[in-house]
Amino acid sequence: MQRRPWVALDRRKCFGNKARMEAPLRILILGGTTEASALAVALSGQPEFVPLLSLAGRTSDPRPAPIPMRIGGFEGPEGLARFVVGERIEAIVDATHPFAAVMSMNAAKACRIAGIPLLALRRPPWQPQAGDRWIDAPAMSDAVRALGEAPQRVFLTVGRLELGPFAEAPQHRYVVRTIEPIGDALPVPHVTAIRDRPPFDAAAERALMEREGIAVVVTKNSGGRATYPKIEAARALGLPVIVVARPRKPADVEEVETPEAALAWLMALHGRTP
Ligand code: NAP
Repeated sequence: MQRRPWVALDRRKCFGNKARMEAPLRILILGGTTEASALAVALSGQPEFVPLLSLAGRTSDPRPAPIPMRIGGFEGPEGLARFVVGERIEAIVDATHPFAAVMSMNAAKACRIAGIPLLALRRPPWQPQAGDRWIDAPAMSDAVRALGEAPQRVFLTVGRLELGPFAEAPQHRYVVRTIEPIGDALPVPHVTAIRDRPPFDAAAERALMEREGIAVVVTKNSGGRATYPKIEAARALGLPVIVVARPRKPADVEEVETPEAALAWLMALHGRTP
């Protein structure tokens, strides 16, 4: 993680113009996470900022935001750079999901093209605790292999977009929970589809795992509180959890872990002491 002192973030150094410094800072938040939504709430109604929240459009019914929102891709890094210039965006906060690696790479490239600062708001990954039975999987295909040959009852909580590789292991019985309907994303004989959206609750997660006779849980290492109760429930039940590691994100980007720290970074960029 690269950390620069506050002084390097001062907007006067970035833009060198006092009049401009006093104007509201135009910010693009690349969202899709609880942290992006929290930052949107923190920025709403603040006269120093003109924020815009961008969503990929992965959910058909996104939660409303208290700041202007746009939905859909930008057509690659060059498209994002064009958008930034056209909308006179002065800084991007990449608060995308930890597994949205393409967008983060695009944001880094677009900011280089447009010559504006970029901050990554990345929640820390989960770490195993005493009592956890984690099986580390570097990628989704490794998680499929880790299930083994013998049929098992699997709680699959990796998101609709990541189901494809599990079609290679059709012998298992899958309980799949997603926000959106899975459609034909997992063409295997035994699938129970559950639609629900975070935040979840440890007692309810445990009840679900017991009711469904789950033998193993598969999850991405998303981090954060909202989906952590499945880890707690698996620990309480002594179940193994196959944990898929995060993809690589651009390394040369300044990073914070909380919406509060992102707000402080933006205030410093605007020229106000955080
Ligand atoms: P991705 O693979 O990083 O991005 C694919 C494309 O989606 C990007 O190139 C971009 O299209 C568009 N995109 C992504 N985030 C965007 C945003 N905030 N605003 C506008 N466009 C955006 O990400 P993904 O396909 O969304 O998801 C990859 C993984 O992240 C999956 O495991 C998924 O389950 C997980 N995830 C994503 C979200 C989410 O909100 N995106 C939420 C939860 C989990 P252009 O190139 O056209 O700009």
